[in-house]
Amino acid sequence: MAKITKNDDKKKKNCSFCADNVATLDYKDTSKLKRFLSESGKILPRRVTGTCAKHQRMLATAVKRAREASLIPYVFEN
Ligand SMILES: [Zn+2]
Repeated sequence: MAKITKNDDKKKKNCSFCADNVATLDYKDTSKLKRFLSESGKILPRRVTGTCAKHQRMLATAVKRAREASLIPYVFEN
């Protein structure tokens, strides 16, 4: 009789934006955005960062805007 309860969802939730109750993402906040970028400057996938679908979308948009405004380089150079 092991029924799966909806409370199990809480375990999976480790989206840092949800934790901070973020409603909008500022593309000018590059220090925050850079945490979700790989060494080469790519946006890290959801399964790596644990970001939820809603915020991953916001993040992608913010990163793309930041790139266009040249706040973040398209490719990080070492
Ligand atoms: Zn979220």
